[in-house]
Amino acid sequence: MKQLLNTNKMYPKKSLGQNFIFDKNFINKLGEYVNSDPNYSIIEIGPGKGALTDNLVKKEFKKIYLIEKDEILSNNLAEKYAHLKNVKVMNKDALLVDYSFFSKIKNVIIVGNLPFNVSTKMLFNWLEIKNWPPFYEKMILMFQKEVACRVIAKPNNGRYSRISVASQSRCSVKKLLDAPASIFYPQPKVDGVVLEFIPICDYKNVNFSNLQKILRLSFNHRRKKIKTTLKKHRKILKDLNLDDNLRPENLSVDEYCKIAKLI
Ligand code: SAM
Repeated sequence: MKQLLNTNKMYPKKSLGQNFIFDKNFINKLGEYVNSDPNYSIIEIGPGKGALTDNLVKKEFKKIYLIEKDEILSNNLAEKYAHLKNVKVMNKDALLVDYSFFSKIKNVIIVGNLPFNVSTKMLFNWLEIKNWPPFYEKMILMFQKEVACRVIAKPNNGRYSRISVASQSRCSVKKLLDAPASIFYPQPKVDGVVLEFIPICDYKNVNFSNLQKILRLSFNHRRKKIKTTLKKHRKILKDLNLDDNLRPENLSVDEYCKIAKLI
């Protein structure tokens, strides 16, 4: 991989979180989670040099959209897959793409080994979508391990935080695979973890920005009791019969959503 990158006068850009997977076994395992289905379309975020894309294009999908911010990589991908009519390369920033375009397409799966530096921002963009359920049916995303652990953490766990409640109020989330740092070039300082997100509608009527406000208030001082952090919502806590001596990590996703519904 190193040689390949250097002979193309392409050096991995740290600013774009470029850590490329070169372990074929890992790619095959990851590919097994994305079932071939001609009724489905794939959006791959940050395809890079096409490590996962090579696996996806061997399957049958209606369309495969590749969203890659790096212009050189994007041009290379367009050349590499030019013979495939169902592959569309988009040289765009996935944080700025107008995803309403994809709402018209049915059966969308988002996949990606996300650039670690903007992975949470990307996730929040897909969770914040107003029209819920969203345009995607599933997301299969790689995060740095520490972020993934927070996404799936349950209450009363030190890792349970704003991103856990936000993710779990919108999606059923589970861990699929560990991705040790050694499968990437250049090797990142931390391991990765692949998670699967399937949208749920349990809290469809909860205003997500109100939920975010509550989560910020609550978790910005996670050692304090909610009688302090959620002081201005004391009446709601009382109405919901919530013990205000609890700390942010003790409240369930359901309880946070109930509070958000009442503000
Ligand atoms: N999928 C490839 C792989 O697994 O080998 C590359 C993954 S690498 C961790 C992240 C990729 O996302 C890079 O190709 C990088 O150029 C691209 N990228 C970074 N920021 C991006 C953004 N905002 N929008 C789209 N692509 C981005």
